[in-house]
Amino acid sequence: MVDKSRILVADVAAIAEATAVLLGGGIVAVPTETVYGLAARAGDAAAVARIYQAKGRPSFNPLIVHVSGVAQAAELVEIDAVSARLMAAFWPGALTLVLPLKAGAAVAGLVTAGLSTLAVRCPAHFVMQALIAGAGPLAAPSANASGRISSTTAAHVAESLGKWGGLILDGGACAAGVESTILAVGVGGVRLLRAGAMAVEDIMAVLGEMGTPTPLALGGESPSPQGGGRLLAPGMMASHYAPLQPLRMNVVAADVGEFHVGFGDIVGDLNLSAVGDVVEAAARLFDVLHIAEASGRAGIAVAPVPIAGLGLAINDRLRRAAAPK
Ligand code: AMP
Ligand code: MG
Repeated sequence: MVDKSRILVADVAAIAEATAVLLGGGIVAVPTETVYGLAARAGDAAAVARIYQAKGRPSFNPLIVHVSGVAQAAELVEIDAVSARLMAAFWPGALTLVLPLKAGAAVAGLVTAGLSTLAVRCPAHFVMQALIAGAGPLAAPSANASGRISSTTAAHVAESLGKWGGLILDGGACAAGVESTILAVGVGGVRLLRAGAMAVEDIMAVLGEMGTPTPLALGGESPSPQGGGRLLAPGMMASHYAPLQPLRMNVVAADVGEFHVGFGDIVGDLNLSAVGDVVEAAARLFDVLHIAEASGRAGIAVAPVPIAGLGLAINDRLRRAAAPK
């Protein structure tokens, strides 16, 4: 195993070092009570792009943002009576809630993959909480290479993300060892997006007390938001995010009436990365697409983005946006 990562026991000094890394725009692997996470400050688009780079993710999935508690969550998402009740009952803990993103919330577009909803969770683990206290809300997917199983020890992280070479805080084996349960709370009721460490029966009991309709998918298939799980409204699915206008890829010279998204030497109306850096381009992608959409032009044309590193995920996302609607 070729491994340049540095594993530090998560003591006060290591937590302080990790906090400094986060504040400086870096990413760190951290223990939580579910699985190890790979964390970046939620408002730092470039740092969030580095998470995707480290994981080698071929596509952009929305990430869970970890918060210190209900008050911090309220700065990022709209909390209705049902989600407030669920937070009171299960936070801190292994329950993630997908809620409407607040306008102006300090969350990078790459975190939500351009969606208007945000997944939030308040972790119980003291290491994650200490980092949030020092660095603010943290976006963190599981700390494993894309397509590999989640990591439940620091050694798993080092093995899975061997080439990454960053700082791994060792907090021992994760108590739960499986990912959080994810619920979407919206006008249509409560939907189970992912079965996980928080028992659905316990959630049902709390919702039952409130008399809330619960179209939870108990047993059987566990719908994934990316995979087109039928319990989600199509507009909420990451894979369905697309600008309103038709979008063309690999366009060197845009047609009249098109908004041209540039890359590198192809300047365009707005450039993803003038220096041709795919990490910078990933960090800017969703913001730029939103601006292009809001321009009101008849179409969007995007310059070629090389299929290397994060360029793979960028091209995947553009292909979905370009697909006939
Ligand atoms: P991981 O970070 O590896 O635990 O995976 C996070 C999960 O949360 C993925 O399945 C995401 O699709 C899901 N998720 C995060 N944000 C949202 C959102 N806004 N809407 C629907 N699903 C989400
Ligand atoms: Mg994962």
